Amino acid sequence: MKVIALVSSGFDSISLLNYYINKSYAIYPLYVKSGFKWENDEINHLKDILSYIENRYKNIAPLKITTISNDFSEEFNKRDFIEDEDVEIPFRNLDLLISALKYAYSMDVKNIAIGIMGLVAFKDNTEYFIKAINNLFSMYGDYRVETPFLGMSKKDVFDKYFIKELFEKAFCCMNPINGKECGVCSKCKEKELIKGA
Ligand SMILES: [Zn+2]
Repeated sequence: MKVIALVSSGFDSISLLNYYINKSYAIYPLYVKSGFKWENDEINHLKDILSYIENRYKNIAPLKITTISNDFSEEFNKRDFIEDEDVEIPFRNLDLLISALKYAYSMDVKNIAIGIMGLVAFKDNTEYFIKAINNLFSMYGDYRVETPFLGMSKKDVFDKYFIKELFEKAFCCMNPINGKECGVCSKCKEKELIKGA
């Protein structure tokens, strides 16, 4: 089986990769760029993470980076992302999944995976949304969006699927300063919580 895995450099993405490694899938990692200020740092960390994985698991394709434009990213980048309500990126999962569908089409892959848990009630972060997307995508062929972590807690996903050796390489900050995590944004706080758990 083959799967397009939507990934960044955070815990959920590493867990998602490991989920499909455990299933012996051929994995096609995809990173979607759309002009946000954390992307270059994420990509650097993601490359580091993938080279660790590639040394141990051969059935993984080179990282694909695709770019889609966002008319609001410049405004959005001005936020400091301290409050949870500042973190929602409009149309994010929709954008990611449409990019993944196009990549799936080009690689002749039918499965698309995204590591959402649905913990925050963003419009495109729910089971209802995923069902609607699957209905839509089925109009284009045999495509299927998989969300193996939907409904799970962060801690459960971390405990069950995270590759612990990659803790220091994981990077999830929306406001990086010179390539380092800021320590105060919503994502950095999440990392602290996982660390303490
Ligand atoms: Zn941060």
